Amino acid sequence: MKVAFCSSEVFPFAKTGGLADVSGALPWALADEGCEIKVFMPLYKNIKPQILNQYFGVSKVGKVEVIFVRNDNYFLRDALYGTPKGDYPDNLERFSFFNNQVIEIMKKINFNPDIVHCNDWQTAPLIIFLRTKYKDVFKNAKLVLTIHNLAYQGIFPQDKFSVLGISGEYFSIQYLEFYGKINLLKGGIVFADMVNTVSPTYAKQIQTQEFGCGLEGVLREKKDRLMGILNAIDYSVWDPSKDKFIYKNYSSRNLDDKYINKNRFQKELGLAEKKNTLLLGMVSRLAEQKGIDILSKGLEKILKKYQVIILGLGEKKYHKILQDIEKGNKKSFVLFLKFDEELAHKIYASCDCFLLPSRFEPCGLSQMISYRYATVPIVHHTGGLADTVVDYSDKGGGFVFKNYSEIDLINTIDRAKEVFDRKDEWLKLLKKITKYNFSWKRTAKEYINMYRIIL
Ligand code: ADP
Repeated sequence: MKVAFCSSEVFPFAKTGGLADVSGALPWALADEGCEIKVFMPLYKNIKPQILNQYFGVSKVGKVEVIFVRNDNYFLRDALYGTPKGDYPDNLERFSFFNNQVIEIMKKINFNPDIVHCNDWQTAPLIIFLRTKYKDVFKNAKLVLTIHNLAYQGIFPQDKFSVLGISGEYFSIQYLEFYGKINLLKGGIVFADMVNTVSPTYAKQIQTQEFGCGLEGVLREKKDRLMGILNAIDYSVWDPSKDKFIYKNYSSRNLDDKYINKNRFQKELGLAEKKNTLLLGMVSRLAEQKGIDILSKGLEKILKKYQVIILGLGEKKYHKILQDIEKGNKKSFVLFLKFDEELAHKIYASCDCFLLPSRFEPCGLSQMISYRYATVPIVHHTGGLADTVVDYSDKGGGFVFKNYSEIDLINTIDRAKEVFDRKDEWLKLLKKITKYNFSWKRTAKEYINMYRIIL
């Protein structure tokens, strides 16, 4: 089976969030299952392909060829989509160009895919183009759209419609129009042969008004072609026994060494070096989705008893709220407002518990990474978190709150602390969660099944 996999970010070449983790792992897992696969992404700043011409670059990474679409004017920028001040104003031009070029390059290199697999709004135009202006090329290819986060839809003003280069008839509510604007994700959903999202629970939730972000009707119409496939994590990237970024490697056999990480990190950050103080970590985009509103409301209270480390980047308003809290709580709270791979690894390794109070969560990867690092997730019961974290009181490996509020979050942290204080019980819990398996092998098989259904 030949697959063209298209994504605007692919780890380790470019990353702002979970999309990059998925795009940096799933294609390789599909290749291991026998697919012939090419990955297409933009040639951003700092990417050095093995081969480069005027139009694109190529790197062979293991069994997979990664093709980087080149346009120095559009892609050699400091960020992928925009700055904290806002999105780049020419994102429609940038991603229209990208998706057109993917088709042109596939023609040029004679790559005839059975499946074209697109991800989120940035590559949804590829699906739109292949069913409109390019409908006579790659006629037999089936088109898949994976929605990693419905909250980002690629919405642009109507007067830019000509940028897409497709007939004006598609600016209508059956196709791309959405409340008088262009909606790329909607177009992708309408034209795709199969749509999936990244967890079974989120696949159901997005068909409701509460989680559908205005597209619930379109998604309900598509419900026979809408699936949920749980993400996984790359166990070669996330492995505390080999991790180069952490202070001391450890595994389920020597969990005591996890506390060396805790101790050294506390010391380095100026936190009291106490083994018995619960250390809570969070690595996240700072967006409302992630529960920063309830966390910041409850944070002062949490810091009276526990230590917290947050690594994140996002909305200015949350930067400010968290910075203000940091000022008065230097001994118990450390805040890093940046994107930093190394620090992320240190947090996963050093903390006792990991916070995921997300208001909604398509899948969430951090809870799976946390399990691997013997760090107990504390999560809101929603989306992929509901599919991956069962409460300790139900024999699960995390702590779950159902009511989205700072009070329930705090109570749940307190419940975790009670178990944390019973050392033998806690150690048993840590041993159990390190054995959970969320590997890409199983997930890749589910994707192949999905491809077979539409082929
Ligand atoms: P989302 O894609 O919604 O941002 P996910 O949980 O699916 O959330 O994936 C987030 C990924 O990005 C995880 O690998 C997490 O560790 C990483 N991440 C998020 N923020 C940062 C940051 N500031 N620094 C380093 N890694 C980060």
